[in-house]
Amino acid sequence: MDRAFLRCSDPACGAEAGPLSHGYSCPVCGGLLEVAYRSWPERPGEWPSIWRERRGGLRPEDRSGVWRFRELLPFLDEGRSPVTLGEGGNPLVEAPQAAAHAGLQRLWLKHQGNNPTGSFKDLGMTTCVSQALAQGAGVVACASTGNTSSSMAAYAARAGLRAVLVVPAGGVSGAKLAQAIDFGAHRVEVEGGFDEALSLLRAVAQELGWYVVNSINPYRLEGQKTAAVELLEQLQWRPPDYLVVPGGNLGNVSALAKGLGELEGLGLLPRVPRLVVVQAQGANPFFRLWSEGGAQLTPLREPRTRATAIRIGNPANWPKAQRALEWSRGLCASVSDDEIAAAKRAIAEDGIGAEPASATTVAGLRQLLLAGAVEADAEVVALLTGHQLKDVDYVLEQNRGQGTEMRISPQQLGQAPGLLAHWLDELPPPAGSSPGSA
Ligand SMILES: *Cc1c(COP(=O)(O)O)cnc(C)c1O
Ligand SMILES: [Zn+2]
Repeated sequence: MDRAFLRCSDPACGAEAGPLSHGYSCPVCGGLLEVAYRSWPERPGEWPSIWRERRGGLRPEDRSGVWRFRELLPFLDEGRSPVTLGEGGNPLVEAPQAAAHAGLQRLWLKHQGNNPTGSFKDLGMTTCVSQALAQGAGVVACASTGNTSSSMAAYAARAGLRAVLVVPAGGVSGAKLAQAIDFGAHRVEVEGGFDEALSLLRAVAQELGWYVVNSINPYRLEGQKTAAVELLEQLQWRPPDYLVVPGGNLGNVSALAKGLGELEGLGLLPRVPRLVVVQAQGANPFFRLWSEGGAQLTPLREPRTRATAIRIGNPANWPKAQRALEWSRGLCASVSDDEIAAAKRAIAEDGIGAEPASATTVAGLRQLLLAGAVEADAEVVALLTGHQLKDVDYVLEQNRGQGTEMRISPQQLGQAPGLLAHWLDELPPPAGSSPGSA
């Protein structure tokens, strides 16, 4: 009997399901599925040292920050090589300016923008596309606010699979679209937003035999859960008090909870960090559900935020996310676009570049500290989910008219030293960290 199988992610149901043939949901209750294992490989107490040794290895699986932890991913048949681009291995960087902005004594940022295509989606795509290949898929497809499609396109190219992306017309950043096009993916544009794009895809995928790689696909979350493992290794297995993530479709927080839960079950996690989800105010249906203590999420019809990666009104993974916060005594916050912009500037003062959706984490922390929900001396790690260059239009727009540019004509060359010296004198001093403080 296979070690890995699919099961309904709702513990109240727990029905076993066949391979992904039911529109990615439980045949009994309609909930999302998860990958479950009948048993784990032996001697988990030795895994941390095995994982550490692999870091210096030569095999692609050992160099991947996902497959290095393959004892936790025993779903591929023995002898099958994963489709990997060397994902993971994302730095954990101390961020004093961002900490000060949030009101924390210390803050650590784990930068998932440092991935092959510039977002954490690569961690899930390596597992998902490996499984697609194992199942004999010919076409992989996704609905996307951008990063899923960039990532899918790269891994599909690597695997020799055709890739189709379904995107909201005009709703995706140029950089993300350019990545997908560069990797040879084909594009379907949908009028409406992400939610309409995903609905369309779920409606046609089964008939067309397309393999959907959105976070409704449980193999995506298997890869993403390893971020929690890599983080704990970086912290020498001392868990932080809080682990903060942006919330869009809520796959990432669900994946982290699954990873942490499995580590706990294996005796590798002494204490569960409190998970914190931060949503953008214009796209915060989960925040509303959580703060009102409801039983059912009410989708938001027209989500709005400049943080396009999390512009989602009907997050598919909300029941998993709700259980994740209940299990970890978690918190949820909702931040405005202005708060996101201010947090992004604070992160940039640490020399760290992230896309707007990622900056929600620091904005949310600031709010939670002001409300007294998080302590100033807490050990906090926030995940930066995407790279700075994912949305350059945003950066240019935010900084337009800030008065920090100077223009010199060829005729002014003689006075240039004086002009430039005066210009610099008038500017505020750099806010960045002092040397050695990081
Ligand atoms: C996809 C994405 C998110 C949202 O993650 P979910 O798993 O959908 O909650 C946040 N930030 C960035 C940069 C993303 O690409
Ligand atoms: Zn079910």
